[in-house]
Amino acid sequence: MKISNIDVYQVDLPYAGDVYHLSGGRSFKTFDATLVCVRCDSGLEGWGESTPFGSTYVAAHGEGVRAGIQLIAPHLIGQDPRCFDRNYDLMDACLAGHPHVKAALDVACWDVAAKSFGVPVCDLLGGRTDTVLSLISSISCDSPEAMRDRVKEFRAKGYIGHSIKIGASENEGGPLLDAQRIAACVADRQPGEYFLADANGGLSVEHALRMLRLLPNDIDIVLEAPCATWHETARLRSLVNVPIHIDELAVSDHSVAHLLVDNIADGFGLKISKNGGLSQARRQRDIAQAAGLVMSVQDTVGSEVAFAAVVHLAQSIHPKWLRCVLDTRELVDLCTGELSGVKVGRFDTLFGAQAVSVPGLGVSPNMDVLGQPVLSFS
Ligand SMILES: [Mg+2]
Repeated sequence: MKISNIDVYQVDLPYAGDVYHLSGGRSFKTFDATLVCVRCDSGLEGWGESTPFGSTYVAAHGEGVRAGIQLIAPHLIGQDPRCFDRNYDLMDACLAGHPHVKAALDVACWDVAAKSFGVPVCDLLGGRTDTVLSLISSISCDSPEAMRDRVKEFRAKGYIGHSIKIGASENEGGPLLDAQRIAACVADRQPGEYFLADANGGLSVEHALRMLRLLPNDIDIVLEAPCATWHETARLRSLVNVPIHIDELAVSDHSVAHLLVDNIADGFGLKISKNGGLSQARRQRDIAQAAGLVMSVQDTVGSEVAFAAVVHLAQSIHPKWLRCVLDTRELVDLCTGELSGVKVGRFDTLFGAQAVSVPGLGVSPNMDVLGQPVLSFS
């Protein structure tokens, strides 16, 4: 089976609320999505997606994804999509770094490969667990009471995990406001719930120390991505005993190894496009499971294809090491296709997501939404 055509589509995904706010005054109203279709001489096709969270979240942006694909895609024509690691070598030989670019092509290859074997992608990744995957909410920076209300809304839907965004500037309220945000979100905690306080790299060590001292005693949270650099995160780690996850700093096999060598965190955000696609995420999953690190399986943002890849990867992770998955579709207001490969809802008493046993990722994009390809290779 050889790759015969690659088509690339661009879609703007509007944010599902008014404006999404992150630390550092960053705000987002729409996300520039790239969807890729890899077609093979067998007639099968596979889909991948890469939707950066704007241009200030990590070193990636939508136009860059498509410019990178333009460099790489011609070299994948004629290759067997099932040779994931060799195709990745080819991509690396064309373009250094740029995991967001390679992810869309790589995920499309996993989708078409799984279809060729007649199995869901989670089975090709090693086999499914029977876990109901816990979905996590994403609570944009706001007033403490507004954030508490958003947590209540997600709790009413069945969510037990909550990602609370923090990182107020000194003018906005600084460490005191962040501590109040966390305390408000955790105030109505129900049995089994967990909370990640995510600063998206926006805190200085001083800010984080002041904030942690203002929190109620014995509050049970994980501090995610407190600082922008390794050095600051390592220094904070040496000064506090709160569990820490990194996210934006973990973008490659190398950074997961670095995390372990420096003992900088207890877990990390495994976001499929940020971390280079399923071939790379699979390896980082295995390193994490061997080393005892917890993973939040997510994507930076994205529509149906991105979410399907998240669920199929998470379904292949032992539940002991899986913190949560993010339904990226919660963040956007546009459906790009039919998703038969994932079920979201109640499973007995548990609410969450599970991969469904259909071949591939189980996504059929809506061509009326995608329109004409912006790039084509054959
Ligand atoms: Mg994060």
